[in-house]
Amino acid sequence: MTTQILVINSGSSSLKYQLVELPSGRALASGLAERIGEAVGRVSHAVGDGARHVVEQPIVDHAEALHIVLSQFAEHGPTLDVEALQGVGHRVVHGGAEFREPVLITESVLAQIEELSVLAPLHNPAHVVGIRAALQIFPGLPQVAVFDTAFFASLPPAAYTYALDAEVARDLGIRRYGFHGTSHAYVSRQVAEVLGVDLADLNQVVLHLGNGCSASAIRGGVAVETSMGMTPLEGLVMGTRSGDIDPGVVFHLARVGGLSIDEIDALLNRRSGLLGLAGDNDFRALMGARAQGDPGAALAFEVAAHRLRKYVGAYAAVLGRLDTITFTAGVGENNAAIREAALSRLECLGIELDPDANAARSSEPRVISTPDSRVTVLVVPTNEELAIAQATAELADG
Ligand code: AMP
Repeated sequence: MTTQILVINSGSSSLKYQLVELPSGRALASGLAERIGEAVGRVSHAVGDGARHVVEQPIVDHAEALHIVLSQFAEHGPTLDVEALQGVGHRVVHGGAEFREPVLITESVLAQIEELSVLAPLHNPAHVVGIRAALQIFPGLPQVAVFDTAFFASLPPAAYTYALDAEVARDLGIRRYGFHGTSHAYVSRQVAEVLGVDLADLNQVVLHLGNGCSASAIRGGVAVETSMGMTPLEGLVMGTRSGDIDPGVVFHLARVGGLSIDEIDALLNRRSGLLGLAGDNDFRALMGARAQGDPGAALAFEVAAHRLRKYVGAYAAVLGRLDTITFTAGVGENNAAIREAALSRLECLGIELDPDANAARSSEPRVISTPDSRVTVLVVPTNEELAIAQATAELADG
């Protein structure tokens, strides 16, 4: 029997959704309600065949946004069949140390998500608002929270502990949590399936390279290291985030640059990374500028590739034995040049890319290393909505 799950990702003034059919995993419809609370809001609704329908009108809150979304389903299809709708899955950025897996949402779960707002002030409060709206509109349906951090709740203390004053760190919840976990978990399971081997037998590195970027080391299906930390700012060079930086830079920006904490936050999170180095956070634009000989774009590409290479080497050391490296997300799935640059000169680790396989374009999972490469390198499209839908269906099933 086919069922449907509505997947929701709510932001402070937006609500993204996808209606997923299971077990096929087909996206029947998807869309975005944005500018919620502003003078004129906008809902863009795309049905499976690609047709897109846009309405612009004031949207006072997330509940009204969901009502408009429902009217889009009624008007343009597909039919949101309440009989077939099995549950609602919500993406939640921060589950702290508490949430190690997806959970059915109750009042006490909601209260915990709200309490975790101190760790994710931009995201968790928005999720709570979105979840409350969905509870109001679908009171009879099981609703599930799927946390971005949960897959990394398995990190060992040596990997998640910052070498800070232990008491200060404990009092303030300062430790590494990791993010993009739903994608890393989904992709690592796909790798085992594509290769036809047992997940438990694989030591994997997964490189999620989108506008946000993160790396993970996964032993036998269990995450043992990841590049994002207490917040998604740590690690790889990203679209607008700096990734790793000497914390002394923060003091220098404050003492010598005269920047406030909020200004430094905005600088490191929103005006750094590829945008800061090359003036654009879109990887396609960066590649275009690099091809035109733009020195800032060329340097940004090299800095990003160098950082990736460092992480791959470090994670090979953490794992001891490395079986697979997998690229995923917008840049990882589509840009052969960064894959090649990131893995160049790593023959010493048994990594040999096949240039033709790497250059070939496809939307399917595929191997891009040579048959002789000791480490198998893959490209596997991520699908966080499908992963959230599957987790929701599992819990809704009871
Ligand atoms: P994501 O956050 O996974 O949606 O990825 C967004 C990033 O992927 C942006 O930097 C895009 O420029 C990049 N991207 C998407 N499609 C392509 C493509 N065909 N070639 C290169 N980069 C792409």
